[in-house]
Amino acid sequence: MSRSHEFRAVIEGDDDKNVKKLTKEQLRYMGKIIFGIFAHPDDEAFLTAGTLLQEVNDGSELHLVCLTDGCGKHSMNPDNVSDLSETRLEEWHNAGKLIGVKNQHCFKYVDGNLNNDDHIEITERIVNMVKDTVDKDSDKQIEFISMDTNGITGHIDHIVAARSALLAYYRLKMEGFPVTRVRLACLAEEDFADINTSWTLREPGRSSDEIDETVDARDQYDRVCEIMRAHHSQRSDADEWINKLGDRVAINHFIVRD
Ligand SMILES: [Zn+2]
Repeated sequence: MSRSHEFRAVIEGDDDKNVKKLTKEQLRYMGKIIFGIFAHPDDEAFLTAGTLLQEVNDGSELHLVCLTDGCGKHSMNPDNVSDLSETRLEEWHNAGKLIGVKNQHCFKYVDGNLNNDDHIEITERIVNMVKDTVDKDSDKQIEFISMDTNGITGHIDHIVAARSALLAYYRLKMEGFPVTRVRLACLAEEDFADINTSWTLREPGRSSDEIDETVDARDQYDRVCEIMRAHHSQRSDADEWINKLGDRVAINHFIVRD
């Protein structure tokens, strides 16, 4: 029997009975629990550092999830360290400390190898991790932050991260957990107008019509750069990103699903 028969449940309309309607001020007072779900150590820094800093400043409890250890066939290793996995996870923990996260969970899959079976397993792991962390009756509302389902750069691991986060979100919602939205970090057309075919297929950034929320954390520009550069082994990417975008690296764009 196909597994599709086991998951007949569908999301029917906006049934948010389990989510208390609170004002922004009440939510800020109570704090949210945010799960940032990404594929590689450094995705959180490049795509969402400004937003994560703002959330922690506003009292949110932040949990970072990284699916892989950032070590695979195509991983950069400019210092030829003998254990790149260990180095990248250490860098990721340093970045997490700078952001002010409460917990970091690495699932330790191999970078570049994620597939459909992993996607199903990862989804179940995310659901179980949320259940282990938050009570179903919690007054605190839960949000997810992940990446555009087009994979941003087109990296398959990014696509698995985004789709696993979304699938876990909808399953938790159907079970009555107080999950409120998923923000999928995306590129903006104004910054990345063209298709890039130099490695995987990077589609153009999203148009203003497609972007639901933009967080401007340029007042945190120096800290955002520090968080990006905490991933020292990936410093050429950080330099390229910062040189291209300037202080716009502290502006994050999101597609929002609820
Ligand atoms: Zn990545």
